[in-house]
Amino acid sequence: MDRIFTVGVVAVQGAFEEHCSALGKLGVSVKEIRSVSDLSQNIDGLIFPGGESTAQGKLLRESGLFDMILPIIKGGLPVYGTCAGMVLLAKRIENDERKHFAVMDITVKRNAYGRQLGSFVTTGDFGDMGKIPMYFIRAPYISSVGKDVVVLSSESGAITAAREANMLVTSFHPEVTDDLTVHSYFLSMIS
Ligand code: GLN
Repeated sequence: MDRIFTVGVVAVQGAFEEHCSALGKLGVSVKEIRSVSDLSQNIDGLIFPGGESTAQGKLLRESGLFDMILPIIKGGLPVYGTCAGMVLLAKRIENDERKHFAVMDITVKRNAYGRQLGSFVTTGDFGDMGKIPMYFIRAPYISSVGKDVVVLSSESGAITAAREANMLVTSFHPEVTDDLTVHSYFLSMIS
């Protein structure tokens, strides 16, 4: 890395601290984003953590962050959505009337593995970067993708990680493991 990047982590709800710690291990400067004023500092990338997408969508709108972030994503800032963050970025949500940023050409299904048995751990391939641990916590999966979307991981026939241009999403939570493959890949999208 030629210089130290600053990555914003949306911190209105959910598992943002784990992302901050993963980024810290990679030597990146981290900025928690809670209010519009937090965006006055320049950021090189932005992470949407796991949590509850409906709650996050509401808090982002109420804080004014939603209207500020949407054009930034459209302008090409590298963004990474984990789990609920993936739901926020999806253009289509097959089992929810709501839509949020609706920027990435994917259809997602929320709580796709069922509510009770919806949390499990496995290992699987992430792109051509080898096998990594994958924690699914009431996770959505991707049921279909548009033509410009690159599929990076699948689990039992469902797509669980994908990239389109400046946008990366995973159904699973790399930030709760010691494996930094996904965060390193995200940093490679910032250049
Ligand atoms: N089921 C949650 C949602 O749809 C996502 C779960 C998570 O982020 N761990 O918002």
